[in-house]
Amino acid sequence: SIAIVLLRRDLRLSDHPALSAACAAHDRVLPVYVHPADEDSSWPPGAASRWWLHHSLEALRAQLRAQAGDLHVVVGDPHSALRGLIRQTGASAVYWTRRYEPDAIARDTSLKAALREDGIDVQSFPGNLWHEPWTLATVDGQPYRVFTPFWRKLRTQLPSRHPLPAARPRHWLTLDGSLPTAALGLLPKIRWDEGLAATWTPGEVGAHAQLALFAEGAVHDYAKSRDLPARHGTSRLSAHLHFGEITPHQIHHGLLQHIAAMDVRRRPDLEPYLRELGWREFACHLLYHFPQTPEANFNPRFDAFPWAPPDAEALARWQQGRTGIPLVDAGMRELWHTGWMHNRVRMVVASFLTKNLRQHWLHGARWFWDTLVDADLANNTLGWQWVAGCGADAAPYFRVFNPLLQAAKFDPDATYIKRWLPELAPLPAKVLHAPDKHAAALAACGYPAPMVDLAASRDAALAAWSALAR
Ligand code: FAD
Repeated sequence: SIAIVLLRRDLRLSDHPALSAACAAHDRVLPVYVHPADEDSSWPPGAASRWWLHHSLEALRAQLRAQAGDLHVVVGDPHSALRGLIRQTGASAVYWTRRYEPDAIARDTSLKAALREDGIDVQSFPGNLWHEPWTLATVDGQPYRVFTPFWRKLRTQLPSRHPLPAARPRHWLTLDGSLPTAALGLLPKIRWDEGLAATWTPGEVGAHAQLALFAEGAVHDYAKSRDLPARHGTSRLSAHLHFGEITPHQIHHGLLQHIAAMDVRRRPDLEPYLRELGWREFACHLLYHFPQTPEANFNPRFDAFPWAPPDAEALARWQQGRTGIPLVDAGMRELWHTGWMHNRVRMVVASFLTKNLRQHWLHGARWFWDTLVDADLANNTLGWQWVAGCGADAAPYFRVFNPLLQAAKFDPDATYIKRWLPELAPLPAKVLHAPDKHAAALAACGYPAPMVDLAASRDAALAAWSALAR
């Protein structure tokens, strides 16, 4: 018998419950990627995501071709595309990995119903999370809104299952008519992507190489180094996780296996890292239970918040890294060049936009959406609402990051700032940590003066917030 496995955000062969189930129950399996002809989601993938997707599809194709299979790539709406393939192959089953974004759930629900009406055995599987959103609830049966109790509960259930070995059917089915990946038009027409290509290796093999690098190096000092943007102190697995090239089960088991071989006294504490993967689960859980939050404040009290009117010029300066605040500009340039930004700097640039410039958090979320290779509806929504103060278990609004103090603390010798703002390389760190006091030295490097007075804009933000609080 023949099964089709629809691949979307699960671009891997190993630890893939849907693919493994298809290979166990059917002797011929056709892996399919259906590219939407026109994206009807309110959050269609941004430019950096599309770049990653192109390369991830290419990587998966290469893996399948090495086994005399292929990824069958078509464009269209999933129901008609699958119907066509079912007719062509005589497949009796369609399997996929579940997604949790509101638009995707709606599409999958109607696709499942339509295929079942056609008499097809349709099955969906978990795969990209430790625990699906509906499997964890408070003692009152409510979704968690606070991270710490959520994590305490989730932590008791880890490690979860063992990762599954790479799936392999008796025969991969291949068909004529598969499109070349390039036909999907995912790559930019103007080639701005050199920085991305120099930084990342999308695909399952790249993901596992990145995990091995992390296990050998940064995991040992993660608790301290994770806050230092100049170092590669974090796993840099976010985009691999988003595209499902690797799973949290594989990461957890991979790290446990790695440290089991070490002397007990040298074993790193995995807890701080696992907790971050816990934030990823929490974000997904929130998006599932509160599907309006990509656009709406989680805390409706913020609906009355007096944001400044949209300011295109201010937004452009922030996007282009020309605010005159070195840590903010370094972060925005890292983002533009590599499609990624260090987490601490994400918090700083988001605070600057939503508090010092008092622009609505959605302006920032949309820019990140277009420029991050790891753009993820759950994590991005959580990140922006957390910093803006209107999210679940968010930083309180009055916590305004001071980008100069953050730079002095986490980038003391300005290595990160100088990496992304090379025009400032000749200046000592203490000048870069006090740009307001050294306007002439910075101007001589062609660097703009701060676009806002940090203290005055902070006071204005706090005044706006206290008006709301009253
Ligand atoms: P590590 O420190 O190695 O963490 C391991 C994994 O845990 C990450 O790959 C990620 O999957 C998860 N994780 C870590 N921190 C968080 C967090 N705060 N929230 C949710 N999951 C987390 N992350 C995204 O994946 N996509 C986004 O679109 C995104 N947007 C963000 C927007 C803002 C304003 C902020 C403040 C944070 C955002 N994050 C987002 C979270 C975080 O910054 C990134 O996940 C992290 O920097 C990725 O680097 P890493 O893989 O080296 O992380």
